[in-house]
Amino acid sequence: MNRRRRVYEGKAKILYEGPEPGTLVQHFKDDATAFNAKKHDTIEGKGVLNNRISEFIFLKLGDIGVPTHFMKRLNMREQLIREVEIIPVEVVVRNVAAGSLSKRMGLDEGTQLPRSIVEFYYKSDELDDPMVSEEHITAFGWANPQEIDEMMALALRVNDFLTGLFLGIGIRLIDFKCEFGRLYENEIMRIILADEISPDCCRLWDVETDDKMDKDRFRRDLGGLVEAYQEVARRLGLFVENRPSEGSGPVLVTSK
Ligand code: UDP
Repeated sequence: MNRRRRVYEGKAKILYEGPEPGTLVQHFKDDATAFNAKKHDTIEGKGVLNNRISEFIFLKLGDIGVPTHFMKRLNMREQLIREVEIIPVEVVVRNVAAGSLSKRMGLDEGTQLPRSIVEFYYKSDELDDPMVSEEHITAFGWANPQEIDEMMALALRVNDFLTGLFLGIGIRLIDFKCEFGRLYENEIMRIILADEISPDCCRLWDVETDDKMDKDRFRRDLGGLVEAYQEVARRLGLFVENRPSEGSGPVLVTSK
């Protein structure tokens, strides 16, 4: 029986009260949703893969000085995280046109953008996460200008780091979404990276074949989602023969 107090349940994750004040347990479910939960399915194994991939990425980001909420992995599906005050803004960074940008701007998917573009969306299921500008964010009091600058700077650092990390394993980072929260420590407030970074919130294309290795496999009914996420984990050096291991780090892909 689960006695832990559930603090929040989202589409793909549940947050439980953690063992210490200021901590939470982030549980990764196998549920997949798209188009604001209008499309829903359970994909066995997805939660385990996202837990492991997100842990790896957050640890690596921590290594280069990007503050994150990640503390430690607890088990196959759960990680201990710092409790933060989530800023209700999704920050999307795009390197290549795809998805909603392609539709909005009439750009072919796969078109390289002149430079990385940062976009903001208001986190609201009822409203379908509308795109917003810095003006909306400050006017409605979701974040102040300094916090927006900090989120943008961190998102671009995450983008530079992930672009290189994935390129080294033969994967193109097309775009991704990240979220931030406020951490209050000794009267000081810091903006830190929260939520998750996994193939659920990135577009990842194989460099050689352009095969999609992300949630578009679900959104577009391409099938093979778990196999694609497993391949991402394998290339990151995280899984061997479907079984989690401590791994030896990213597998270098060299051109033939
Ligand atoms: N994304 C996400 N959650 C959302 C919306 C978008 O993780 O609620 C990610 C998505 O996986 C992609 C990027 O943000 O990597 C840009 O998504 P886009 O705006 O193109 O939206 P979509 O086409 O997925 O509706």
